[in-house]
Amino acid sequence: MDIINILPDSVANQIAAGEVVDRPAGAVKELLENAMDAGATQIDLVVKDAGRTLIQVTDNGCGMSDGDARLCFERHATSKIHRADDLFAIHTMGFRGEALASIAAIAQVELRTRQADSELGTQVQIEGSHIVDQHHLVCPCGTTVAVKNLFYNVPARRNFLKRDSVEFGHIEEVFRRITLIHHDIGFTLQSNGKTVYDLKPGGMLQRIAGLFGSLYKERMYAVDEETDLVRIHGFVSRPEFSRKTRGEQYLFVNGRFIKHPSLNTAVERAYADLLPDRSFPSYFIGLQVDPSRIDVNIHPTKTEVKFVDDHALFAILRSAVKRAIGQFSLGTELSFDTPPEFNIGPVPKGHTPTPPRISYNPDYNPFRATAAQTRLKIESTDLKGPNDLNDLEDLKDPIDPKAPTPTPSAGTCMQLQERYIVTALSSGLAVIDLQRARERIAFDRMVRNSEWGANSSQTLLFPVDCHLQAADAEMLSELLPDLKQYGFEIAQRSSGTFVVTATPPEVHEDDLQHLIERLLADYRGSTMQRFVDRSTSLCASLAKQIAAKCPARLEQAEMQQLVADLFACPMADTSPSGKKIITIVKPEELLK
Ligand code: ADP
Ligand code: MG
Repeated sequence: MDIINILPDSVANQIAAGEVVDRPAGAVKELLENAMDAGATQIDLVVKDAGRTLIQVTDNGCGMSDGDARLCFERHATSKIHRADDLFAIHTMGFRGEALASIAAIAQVELRTRQADSELGTQVQIEGSHIVDQHHLVCPCGTTVAVKNLFYNVPARRNFLKRDSVEFGHIEEVFRRITLIHHDIGFTLQSNGKTVYDLKPGGMLQRIAGLFGSLYKERMYAVDEETDLVRIHGFVSRPEFSRKTRGEQYLFVNGRFIKHPSLNTAVERAYADLLPDRSFPSYFIGLQVDPSRIDVNIHPTKTEVKFVDDHALFAILRSAVKRAIGQFSLGTELSFDTPPEFNIGPVPKGHTPTPPRISYNPDYNPFRATAAQTRLKIESTDLKGPNDLNDLEDLKDPIDPKAPTPTPSAGTCMQLQERYIVTALSSGLAVIDLQRARERIAFDRMVRNSEWGANSSQTLLFPVDCHLQAADAEMLSELLPDLKQYGFEIAQRSSGTFVVTATPPEVHEDDLQHLIERLLADYRGSTMQRFVDRSTSLCASLAKQIAAKCPARLEQAEMQQLVADLFACPMADTSPSGKKIITIVKPEELLK
């Protein structure tokens, strides 16, 4: 008895679909790629319920004829290759002619398309691989594909989908991987009626800013290199903006996002000693190579790629990034820029290191010690090095924000180059980074006050408008309650416009737009890294900006006050952003 059947197309397509479209983000990728292959200059993506209910891509590309509008849903229907040889010179994103057939097998799809030389367009409706309607209609030139109720006929897949936030996260990542490198095309992304991104055509740096916030512009160095083998263009983060997670690392080859462990290593190697351990640079790098030098025999939905010239590419990429970093970084202030935890000198021979010790005063009573007393004690404390600052723990006293500031009694201070304050301690000469000290003091004050709801706020005479990119706007609206804790009164007026009516008193209203953008950029860069909660992480950025706006020159009394305030902080030696505040030059070192 014969038992073999040929599977009907609809079933074969459904099986194939499993490979191409395993979740909504897979369909998004295919539709965006088709739009780019059609030569579109503007592509608009709309999703509802993270793509479950609707994924719609509209482009202003070449459109399709009546016949092609039907044929495109057939398996192996492609206009992009004609013979096997073409495989070695692929210049389009797709070529297997499978995507639309797959999507049509597992969703209800509506296609509208018109070519520039036809008066009327075509609309095709297809469900589970069967065309249910086709007619002419008036529509703009280009193509709209609407994919509705994805997996409506594959319950197993539908049930396998994760929460909306996870699925939307995958869609956003696909969107970034495509839009970053195709920055000459305009893109929008709308989710549940809200515009998440509105990216205008432009250079790569502008695109990075549109996706990750405008401050990324200040955080990047350009990488440009051209050899016979490869053309490299992109941006890498300045070493000081490295991150604790491998987050924003994007590598592209011929317009396609790729993962390539050895090329990723090449970029990281270029930073060599410039990064602290377990920190990673962000990068966005596009490579252009002759398509025949890439192995195309790879699965289109996978991101792995093989190069014929693997080793040479590694060397070229590493040196290009190295040059980008070396060319621009000054390198002179490195010692002060190394976070203290990495600032451990070599251990002398015969010396057994002892773990740092925290000494505390068991008789300490916060209501007995006054701030002035604290300051007196500092002078007699023998500071032996950064670790010994832990000894100051027992000196700290909670300061009532409303209490008058006591007259400090720190020793004579001297200001060096508007950047440092130098003062004598019994253990040596303390060189204090002024800006970082202010950052620490402001941060501690605001965090302490926020626990009591005691941060003050100053109402602006004239409210100030801020205009933000869609991604920033979304983030700011989420952070408004946290900012309120620190004295900001901000209301969202429209999707991208906010009006600020009050700020912390130390904030200058002339540059609110920039301040808010920087808060958001810092927040994006620091969440989950240094601080556990977002409000503290915001406060760190705010403190930094407040400190940056303080006058550079100080009077003697102001310097003494600052030194006293600093030493009243539990972590006087490190700024909230993890930078070293105090360096002690010991008398022995001076003798040498
Ligand atoms: P592939 O992209 O691999 O060729 P697809 O199934 O994605 O396969 O698309 C099939 C064909 O449909 C394409 O080759 C192209 O000719 C046509 N097509 C798909 N999307 C569009 C679009 N947005 N604009 C114009 N033509 C399109
Ligand atoms: Mg395609």
